Amino acid sequence: MAEQRAVVLGAAGFIGSHLCDRFLGEGWRVTGVDSLITGTLRNLEHLRREPRFDFLRADICDPLDALAGPVDAVLDFASPASPVDYLKHPFETLHVGSIGVENALKLAKRSGARFLLSSTSEVYGDPLEHPQRESYWGNVNPIGPRAVYDEAKRFAEAITMAYRRYERVDTRIARIFNTYGPRMRLDDGRVVPTFAGQALRGEPITVYGDGSQTRSFCYVDDNVECIFRLLHASTGEPVNVGTPHEMSMLELAKWVREAVGSKVELVFQPLPQDDPRVRRPDISRARELLGWEPRVPFDEGMRRTIAWFKERIERGDLAAAA
Ligand code: UDP
Repeated sequence: MAEQRAVVLGAAGFIGSHLCDRFLGEGWRVTGVDSLITGTLRNLEHLRREPRFDFLRADICDPLDALAGPVDAVLDFASPASPVDYLKHPFETLHVGSIGVENALKLAKRSGARFLLSSTSEVYGDPLEHPQRESYWGNVNPIGPRAVYDEAKRFAEAITMAYRRYERVDTRIARIFNTYGPRMRLDDGRVVPTFAGQALRGEPITVYGDGSQTRSFCYVDDNVECIFRLLHASTGEPVNVGTPHEMSMLELAKWVREAVGSKVELVFQPLPQDDPRVRRPDISRARELLGWEPRVPFDEGMRRTIAWFKERIERGDLAAAA
């Protein structure tokens, strides 16, 4: 079989860069595209001499005409994805989830490629159904500060389905829940790098609200395995990607403090507006359709991630990803 080629949009981001590694590892050729607004080339540095990898610095809100040649899969992972990042880049987030996704779909259509959208558990908003199944339509505040991300991703799903129905593009939708692992930016504001960074630097851990809100954290390798299987499956239905291992932010703060062996205090700060109270995926669909199951236990994944952050901090690389 001829060598297959994937175009990974958002290749310099956290999940995007791991996806590049995975597809290269499977023998694919990979073209990575990133605007570098929130991604960093340090996530791709190890691929600099990889002959099957090439990188294009581009904003997918501009037409992707520079991408020539055959493409088998377009994986759209281009978007600011942490609340801190998307609140800092509200218009870029709205544009990349709308105009950007349409450009990506057009690329898939003209090259006859499969298209995979990275959607998000944020489409469920502050959920009234728990755990969340893919059939749940969500509880999103369309005019709140998080709407720039949530509604852009809901639009992204809608336009992906429209290209499937009316333009015959072979699409997949992954609804990604909280994911963590090496290559997250220490300063991206998400809870795992924030708590780990604070504990490692001996600073107080900032718990928002009373810390009773929950999230379920999936290690990036499990996420990438699920995405790879989803691309090869035949469903156009959205599929939750995450783990059912749910914990409160207070538990997480204490866990991280203990794991780092630090004695820092926990300080309580106001809960951001529209911060979901609970979040946990029902992953029956991924189990049934993809035979997928998260494999990396929380303790193990967190140990690897904290070790990675520790090394970055010891190198004096406080804010950056690598
Ligand atoms: N959070 C926190 N302290 C922080 C950063 C985040 O308590 O320094 C909380 C946040 O309020 C939310 C949860 O951790 O309830 C997860 O936040 P994150 O920004 O990682 O992502 P989200 O799941 O909200 O998109």
